[in-house]
Parts: sequence; structure tokens; C-alpha cells
Amino acid sequence: MAARDQLVRYSARLLDDGLAVGSAGNMSVRVAGTPAAGTPGANTPLADTVAITPSGVSYAELRPQDICLVAADGTDLPAGTGPPEGNSETPSSETPMHLAIYAATRAAAVVHTHSPEVVALSAARTELPAIHYAITGLGGPVRVAPYVRFGSAGLAAAAVQALDGRSAVILRNHGAVTYGRDLAQAYDRALLLEWLARTYRLALSYGEPAILSAAELDEVTAESRRRRYGERRANQPGGSTS
Ligand SMILES: [Zn+2]
Repeated sequence: MAARDQLVRYSARLLDDGLAVGSAGNMSVRVAGTPAAGTPGANTPLADTVAITPSGVSYAELRPQDICLVAADGTDLPAGTGPPEGNSETPSSETPMHLAIYAATRAAAVVHTHSPEVVALSAARTELPAIHYAITGLGGPVRVAPYVRFGSAGLAAAAVQALDGRSAVILRNHGAVTYGRDLAQAYDRALLLEWLARTYRLALSYGEPAILSAAELDEVTAESRRRRYGERRANQPGGSTS
């Protein structure tokens, strides 16, 4: 399954990019629930499935067959559609948070990191403010959700609430979560969030930084949309708007 290979590849990047250490953090991809031909239940229509990194396996040792499959609605997968034979791994302890985000948003992939700049900010601030317009890529200033124990339903609820209108949330004394239309976008947003937290800390070292207003951010969002629309039109022969 392509999702498994993707998750292994991006998990290795988590370490290389300094977004997590050891087996901390986790990521998932939503996949259509189509069982392989010839398996029991092959003719049964399935709810979406989520491929997620396992709990407690070092990213350096992670293999595609270690990736776990869970039903997007939290129920057990029908027989023959679960993990491949030999997979004895337990899905990430943050599976409830991943599933809650899929249920509440249009996310197709979710990335959870313990990146240092974000963790430091989470312990000292209630929000990552807009010191750079790139924050519009996350929907605007990023909220810090209240502290709730890892792996709990309470943390899942707090994360979903603080994600309202955003594609990123910071978890107090814990880390961050980003989502996207695919794993590449969710991962790039995790990198952007860490960069924004770092630049904010650097700005604070000079004194009180200037923060972009809501109107200035709206202007950036509108201009980005206009430019993307222009690109789409330019790519269509005859400039068709269909
Ligand atoms: Zn965590």
C-alpha cells in the first residue's frame, strides 16, 4: 500500500528535520477502505480506513509492514482487511486524536510532532501570533490548546476545538498537529509551523515584535487566492473556466 511506504518515508524525515526524536510524534493518512481481492469481506463496502504509525517503534527501524490500519470511525476493521500477517504493532497512542481530526475536518493526512521551537512556545504562550504572512498557510495565528494528558479523548477534543478555521494547532506542554490534503502538505505545514515558532522567538530577542493585523492577513489570503486562480486559468487552453 502506497500509504504505508509514504508514512515510513516521512517518519524518517521527522528525525532528519528535527521535528521529533526516537519514536515521539506520529502521522497518519486516510485511505479508501477497499479490501484486497480474494480476502474475506472483499465484496463488503467499507468505511474509510486510516493508516497510522505504530506506538513505540523507533522511526529509524520502522518498516512498511509495521504501519497499522484502523477504521476511520473507530470501529474494528472487518476480518481480512486489517494489518498484514505478522504485524503485531499497536496503533499510535494518539489514534483517537487523529480520528477526531478526520471526523471534524477535510483532512486526508495528519502529522503530530514534538518539535522543539513549538514545544517551547507551547509552555509560554497561548497563541503563535502572525509575525510573518506565511502564517496564512495555516489559516492564521495558531492557537495553543489547553494541556490534557497524551492519548486521551480530552486531548483529541481540545485539539479539534483549537483547530477551528486552522490547519495547525499547538498542544500545551506537548507538541503540534497539522493536517493537509495529503501527507506532503501536512508535513510541509509542520515544518512551516516550527519555522514560524522559531522566527517569533528570534523576533522576541529584539524586543516587542510587530504583529500583522487580521486585515493585513486577509489581504494576503485574497491575493494568494487571486494568484492561484490566475495560474489555473493560464494552465487551461482557451482560458476556460469550467
Ligand atoms: Zn505527542
